[in-house]
Amino acid sequence: MLLFSIFGYPVAHSISPRLHNTVLQALKLDGCYIRKAITDPEKLVSTFHAMKLEGANVTVPHKETAFAQCDEVRGIAKEIGAVNTLVREGTRVIGYNTDAEGFYEAIKPFGYIRNALILGAGGTAKAIAIILKAHEIETTILNRSASRLAFFEAKGFTCKTWQTFTSLPYDLIINTTSAGLKDEEYPCEPELLKNIFAHSKYVFDVIYNKPTPFLELAKNYGLTCKDGKEMLLYQGVFAFNLFFSQHYDVKMIESLMRPAFDI
Ligand code: NDP
Repeated sequence: MLLFSIFGYPVAHSISPRLHNTVLQALKLDGCYIRKAITDPEKLVSTFHAMKLEGANVTVPHKETAFAQCDEVRGIAKEIGAVNTLVREGTRVIGYNTDAEGFYEAIKPFGYIRNALILGAGGTAKAIAIILKAHEIETTILNRSASRLAFFEAKGFTCKTWQTFTSLPYDLIINTTSAGLKDEEYPCEPELLKNIFAHSKYVFDVIYNKPTPFLELAKNYGLTCKDGKEMLLYQGVFAFNLFFSQHYDVKMIESLMRPAFDI
């Protein structure tokens, strides 16, 4: 039997096993996808080998540690500095980042985007900023504090803190902070958000399991809004395909995985 896992801490909430097992079963593959809580991040890859896994996904807070432990990192993950997908190739472990591609797939229906503003400067912001840059979308980073901006400055992004920011018209606004996940907080001052939304078209929140105050406010401005559900779906679709050497058609995997997501 082919074995796959999600690695993270905590992982009990993860729906990745449901997404991947649904596709494995639909394709009648002899495989199983399980959860594994990893408390010591230094043991990510040794655990991968010990469990005899074919592939794994990595979630918070281990994506950057996983990057450092892979035998090889491929694609856009090299620039992001974080991996969310591990694939066994013989005795080697190859790392990929499908969060970035998953995000880009999710915003494709928006159509042409000239520029974007990312709220937050954590790991998710890195993946999104790098994929937007790869698609030549001019991107500004706005974060609460300056401490995490060095990565983005080194890659040539315009970076601002709440103190130094002056709003310009942006086609797309993306919330990558966890503000609004467990509370009724906004990712920045609501008055500033109103000013930003007044000159925007599209709004994306990476949070997917609840309507955040950020998205609710954007809806009041009549903007086209999307939460993080499809980003999560597509990162899973692309990861599944990497587990099987890109053997399957992406649209077919999506059609099999999407109903599991909607349960
Ligand atoms: P990180 O911890 O790496 O980064 C958090 C960022 O948010 C920091 O820039 C921090 O600012 C900022 N922040 C946190 N709380 C607040 C607040 N109350 N107000 C303003 N800014 C705040 O987080 P991740 O990037 O790993 O994850 C962020 C979110 O993305 C999570 O909610 C996660 O669930 C979601 N996610 C969704 C995915 C999907 O597929 N839909 C995929 C991956 C993640 P500062 O630097 O000042 O502390």
